[in-house]
Amino acid sequence: MSRRRLIAANWKMNKTIAEAVVFVPPLRDALPRLSDVDLAVFPSFLGIRPVVDALQGTDVAVGAQDVYFEANGAYTGEVSAAMIRDAGGTMVLVGHSERRHVLGESDETVAKKLVAALQAGLTPVLCVGELISERDAGNARSVVERQLTTAFAAVAAALAPRTVVAYEPVWAIGTGRTASPDDAAEMHAAVRAWLSGRLGNAADGMRILYGGSVKPDNAAGLIARENVDGFLVGGASLDPASFVAIATASVTRSRR
Ligand code: PEP
Repeated sequence: MSRRRLIAANWKMNKTIAEAVVFVPPLRDALPRLSDVDLAVFPSFLGIRPVVDALQGTDVAVGAQDVYFEANGAYTGEVSAAMIRDAGGTMVLVGHSERRHVLGESDETVAKKLVAALQAGLTPVLCVGELISERDAGNARSVVERQLTTAFAAVAAALAPRTVVAYEPVWAIGTGRTASPDDAAEMHAAVRAWLSGRLGNAADGMRILYGGSVKPDNAAGLIARENVDGFLVGGASLDPASFVAIATASVTRSRR
């Protein structure tokens, strides 16, 4: 099945508002060449509204890097799904590996965030992926399946297909070490099989992104593989030229 590819920029805790906004003109210039892919950027919470305004008139989606699962209340420092929407965001990252492994988010917390995002009408990008110790022990697939099982446990079947899944092996994030196209294709096939087992045909249209040190020079080899439906790009998305180069490589390469 052919799915529109999605190339997403996760800026992490980088870019002031001014720095986020100057990313937009070079991206706008490239848009006529990128009409065959979907694009999304994930600034800091503070950057969402200014970037939405700067992108007005384009189809580039803007999202948040995290969301809290409660609707409102005494949760100092947290941001709700409704607040993200109010700022103009339409997407949200859920369970990024830095949230899980640096900031201590459990599978159960990720699950609540996924439900909150979907119920609020945001498009979640659910991030899953194994540690190097888990891969070396032969447990990569079971770890990813456990993360998927917990995340989707309380999600209504009608809402689940709106989710984008990002396979991001933790050992490849920000390390310069990328999964080989074969490793990525194998895990993406496993994720697709899991989604189909849980959701049936509704899973066919769901996009599975790869993330982990994607760069302009390795994007083409990865995007060519079955079930690699786009990228979640961290470091290489900070520079508009390299983000555009990754998106361009994703347009022009057909599947092998
Ligand atoms: C990410 O932040 O999701 C990511 C994949 O980072 P990087 O591209 O820098 O590895």
